[in-house]
Amino acid sequence: MKESRNTLQKQVILEELCKLKTHPTADDIYMLVKRRMPKISLATVYRNLEKMAENGTILKLEFPGEPKRFDAFTHRHYHFKCNKCQRIFDIEMEDLIDYNDILQKLNDKFKIIHIQLLIYGICQECL
Ligand code: ZN
Ligand code: MN
Repeated sequence: MKESRNTLQKQVILEELCKLKTHPTADDIYMLVKRRMPKISLATVYRNLEKMAENGTILKLEFPGEPKRFDAFTHRHYHFKCNKCQRIFDIEMEDLIDYNDILQKLNDKFKIIHIQLLIYGICQECL
């Protein structure tokens, strides 16, 4: 019984995240999920998001000094944050970074777990 409730919660969280291209925070997702599951807690939403990010179902974006954001689109792409409107845009470029080159150069010294490139600037609408 508990297992099926957990599965349903996870499914609804993922469904709501999939509807958005805005890279929402856990709070944003919680507000949406709550409409469908009024009893769900923020902690449950948060825990599920972290778990899904861990196993690669979704992406977690960590902009320093800000709440984490989540992305249901896991194909290789990059993120641009506008310093004025604070929106996060997808940059659809596969080969912006040569990962093999980075891994090769650092391989002896470090075990790489995660590489994150965040691009900051001003978007076209705010220019
Ligand atoms: Zn902007
Ligand atoms: Mn994205």
